[in-house]
Amino acid sequence: NLGTRLTVKSRDEIGALGRAINDLAARLQRYRDSRQAFFSTISHELRTPVTYLKGYAKALNDGLVDSDNERKQYLSIIYQESIRLEHLIRDLFDLSKMEEGQIKLDIELLDLKELMETALQKVKLKAEEKKIRVQAELTDGVPLVSGDRKRTEQILLNLLENAIRYSERGMVVARLASDKQNVVIAISDNGIGIPKEELPYIFERFYRVEKSRAREYGGTGLGLSIVKKYIELQGGTVKVESQLGAGTTFTLLFPRGKGQGKDERSYEKK
Ligand code: ADP
Repeated sequence: NLGTRLTVKSRDEIGALGRAINDLAARLQRYRDSRQAFFSTISHELRTPVTYLKGYAKALNDGLVDSDNERKQYLSIIYQESIRLEHLIRDLFDLSKMEEGQIKLDIELLDLKELMETALQKVKLKAEEKKIRVQAELTDGVPLVSGDRKRTEQILLNLLENAIRYSERGMVVARLASDKQNVVIAISDNGIGIPKEELPYIFERFYRVEKSRAREYGGTGLGLSIVKKYIELQGGTVKVESQLGAGTTFTLLFPRGKGQGKDERSYEKK
């Protein structure tokens, strides 16, 4: 919290003040480093799809492609790269809106089971490409929650995509359940894991674990900051547990609606 003001009432507190200033300076430095890394990543990330788009479109346009098969392949690459670009632009746009505190939520009653199924469908191909099994353990009849459909879908996609991206093998498990207070979603992988000392920072904007790792796996360092912001805007929380080399679990808590007949509706549906 960079806005905190400290008042010094005694000598003891000078020590505390010193520590607070050091902590602040360290945070500022980390922010500067990550910001700079972000801009270099972002220009690289933007340039890569554009290079592909330009190259393959030119080849098609110049009539350099004879076989139908090859033409299809080129078009497919152009399509995939457009999607990548679209995601990147969406994340940047969301980020800039968040910085200005301008995000307006469109709240409705959400069936998280249905949203999870849609998200799982979307990441299916990516998982298959990496031979990662995706398992859904979704309890029936969990209460509806009030939230923003698009943002919630984005939360689930970001976490699922990360689980797949940072796994080399194995399985991603998506669980849905509820307790007295919350509807709970947990997304687990047995991928590369996150070092313990990095865990406090992974939700910060632009933050990425190890630069070398970041380059190898792609991504922008924005996904988790968007997850955290969106879930908190909806009154929920996100937690992470991870073991390096063993795997990671992200847990989302969505508060159950109080009164207003929100919960009853889901039971009627059964
Ligand atoms: P990125 O676009 O780099 O994935 P995120 O904000 O989504 O950005 O994640 C921040 C960092 O946290 C990532 O760079 C990655 O190192 C780490 N991370 C996120 N999810 C996982 C996961 N499921 N397993 C291992 N590391 C993860």
